[in-house]
Amino acid sequence: MLKVNENFLKLPGSYLFSEVARRIRVYSEAHPGAEIIKLSIGDVTRPLVPAVIQAMHKAVDEMGRLEGFHGYGPEQGYEFLREAIAQGDYAVRGVDMKPNEIFVSDGAKSDCGNIGDIFGVDNVVAVCDPVYPVYVDTNAMAGRAGEYQEELGRWNRLVYMPCVEANSFSPEPPKEIPDIIYLCSPNNPTGAVISRERLKAWVDYANAHGAVILYDSAYEAFISSGDVPHTIFEIEGARTCAIEFRSFSKTAGFTGNRCAYTVVPMELERGGAKLNSLWNRRQCTKFNGVPYVVQRGAAAVYTPEGRAQIMANIDYYRANARVIREGLSAAGLVCFGGVDAPYIWLKTPGGAGSWEFFDQVLDKANVATTPGAGFGPSGEGYIRLTAFGDAQATKTAVERVADMFR
Ligand code: PLP
Repeated sequence: MLKVNENFLKLPGSYLFSEVARRIRVYSEAHPGAEIIKLSIGDVTRPLVPAVIQAMHKAVDEMGRLEGFHGYGPEQGYEFLREAIAQGDYAVRGVDMKPNEIFVSDGAKSDCGNIGDIFGVDNVVAVCDPVYPVYVDTNAMAGRAGEYQEELGRWNRLVYMPCVEANSFSPEPPKEIPDIIYLCSPNNPTGAVISRERLKAWVDYANAHGAVILYDSAYEAFISSGDVPHTIFEIEGARTCAIEFRSFSKTAGFTGNRCAYTVVPMELERGGAKLNSLWNRRQCTKFNGVPYVVQRGAAAVYTPEGRAQIMANIDYYRANARVIREGLSAAGLVCFGGVDAPYIWLKTPGGAGSWEFFDQVLDKANVATTPGAGFGPSGEGYIRLTAFGDAQATKTAVERVADMFR
């Protein structure tokens, strides 16, 4: 008799965003005139930049001609894009990364989930708390998370690393030594970054214990502080313990275009195997590459015009982040993040619960947010605000929330 993967049956419902949407809907129906501004959007809103559009138009025209047509491309990505990434994201930071260590894909979400294919089920996995839910759910699907404990909001086989005010929202090595460690910097949802010193400590820890760090740097483009590492490979020793995930989604507005990449250095070996070879095998078997047109668009991000144009969009979001952070701090609220990330992690005033404060802000300011508790138990007592909205709407939203506390 057919058996389903019973791990799927253990997953709790994806409660967070559906519950946020439900509460907004119920409120809007009860208050038909209310103009709700969403500081909850995790998606970009600025259009693709001209350099990307031109490159994609050109590629579409090529595809319509016999001599320019492209069928299946290399599963790992076209050489022109892997080379552009090696130069534009690594060589510029003094990091030597070869194109054959870079695997182009359709998203950091897929890669963060799919990477589990190359690891055994018995590995101990450590995640931050609060956390981007994909790391947790994909390990649960694979049977690496054990049983879900409803009352605690945790899986019994995962190791949770609390990221709280006391450690500046920066994860610390847990007592139980994990085999796989997910780190995310700049962080979703807290907006915190891992300093060079702390990242070096993580790299040393992973090398000492034979663990592998899965480093999600999807928000790298938002780093503005001088000494924050842009890639884990700026840290000595990372080539023997880390895999890095990057994405064009938030960097260049590709959430609807789909292009990302994963870096697996040649030196990274476990169990007598090169993880680069295992990932290559996995991708060649289960993935058929990113569309040629999209990869041409992604490569345009590395031209001088493309770079200047995408940075103008990032600056637009950064200005929103500043408006949120400064406006709400001036109103007496305690805000974290928002400097090197598009996320502001706001401490609920008076010890209010995340959902309680979400409801208050929705009701009194008509502003939608995301309750921190939805990202893990240590997110309780916080809400996440995002800088991806329209500039004027963001200003209005901040004024309305600030007014609640005047
Ligand atoms: N990693 C983190 C931390 C994210 O927050 C997101 C998207 O919200 C992703 C990865 C997904 O990126 P992509 O659009 O490349 O799948």
